[in-house]
Amino acid sequence: MAQKPEMLPPEIFAKTTQLLVELCTISSSSGDSQGLSAMAARVAAELALRGLAPEIIPEDDGDGGSMPLLVARGPRIGDHPLVLVGHMDTVLDAVAPRLEGHRLWATGALDMKGGLAMLIGALDLMAARGKRPPDDLMLVLVPDEEVSGYISERAVRRWSEGARVLLVIEPGEGRADAETLVAGRRGLTEWKLDVTGRASHSGLAYWYGRSALAAAADWVAQAQAMSENGPGATVNVARMVAGDSDFVNGLATHHALLGTSRRRNVVSDRALAEGEARYLTPSDGVRIMERLARLTERTAGEREVSMLFLPGTGVPPVDPKGPGSPIAAQVTRLAAERGWRLEVEEDRGGISFPNYIADPSKIPIVDGLGPVGDGMHTREEYLDLRSLERRIVLMADLLAALANHP
Ligand SMILES: [Zn+2]
Repeated sequence: MAQKPEMLPPEIFAKTTQLLVELCTISSSSGDSQGLSAMAARVAAELALRGLAPEIIPEDDGDGGSMPLLVARGPRIGDHPLVLVGHMDTVLDAVAPRLEGHRLWATGALDMKGGLAMLIGALDLMAARGKRPPDDLMLVLVPDEEVSGYISERAVRRWSEGARVLLVIEPGEGRADAETLVAGRRGLTEWKLDVTGRASHSGLAYWYGRSALAAAADWVAQAQAMSENGPGATVNVARMVAGDSDFVNGLATHHALLGTSRRRNVVSDRALAEGEARYLTPSDGVRIMERLARLTERTAGEREVSMLFLPGTGVPPVDPKGPGSPIAAQVTRLAAERGWRLEVEEDRGGISFPNYIADPSKIPIVDGLGPVGDGMHTREEYLDLRSLERRIVLMADLLAALANHP
């Protein structure tokens, strides 16, 4: 990808790369409280040098232990800060980093120590340009994004409440001739289906029976078929158990029936299915759940069984056309002005930081601002250092654009 050579002073690039190698040398896999504390202390020291006030907060990890949360604040946070979110943990323990051409092979280089180094490099670049970062900049770095996310969820919810903008410095994606940032993330709603039919002897009274299994299977096939390949909603049936009610209710002890001839002569009177629906906008979520409820009513009538459709807990989506979209467009323009192509991912699966917010439709959110590479969560993980260079400049440009100095 072409880029203007004068973009980033070589000394800032060298210093940032050096820092990134150091960060990757500190082993900080999820659950390693000592490693994560070392990582938090190292990053905090770098932030303090650049005018942010870091605070390392020991957080209850929900499991009787404690893990460090790093919050760093600019001089004037106010009630509606500009919040940047990232994580300090990695999936694997660190091995010695290896620099090879434009690639840094190291644990967490991509996910997401590269994003942390990028931010620090961007602060240096702003200083070199004689510019101040936004006074209300607040950085929140969590220690458990790769595991339970217990601290992540509460921290993101708490600290981004009232944020004027939420920027996530997780990596974008590298494509053949472009890189991406993420504007949309699917939300989900869990559901459960509970079917009661009428048991009968399949030899003596077959037509008297009302098969819960057949009704559930019919429902399941139609529910899955509602899934749209594209921006529409999808339905996943993750589990289904059906049979005679004694079998279903006592599955833990009755699984030994499987593979035997016993009770094959019973028309099934009970079925349970559970799964989730995923969707990109809140209205898609409402619509798919309504369709599933109507399907339930119809199938129950046709099959003469009783069917209960029970929506469960959920995670809200980040709508790619929501309040973050003007900022995403602004970021792609900033990249274009520096001579490279950034594309907006409108439909990223998987649950991430923005989904933790109680109502993501109220806050402008842009995700995937970190540099790209490949091999996330594996021993083949690497960061593309040319992307790091581009994204340092991009982050500095973006922070300058979002600064609201009096
Ligand atoms: Zn990550």
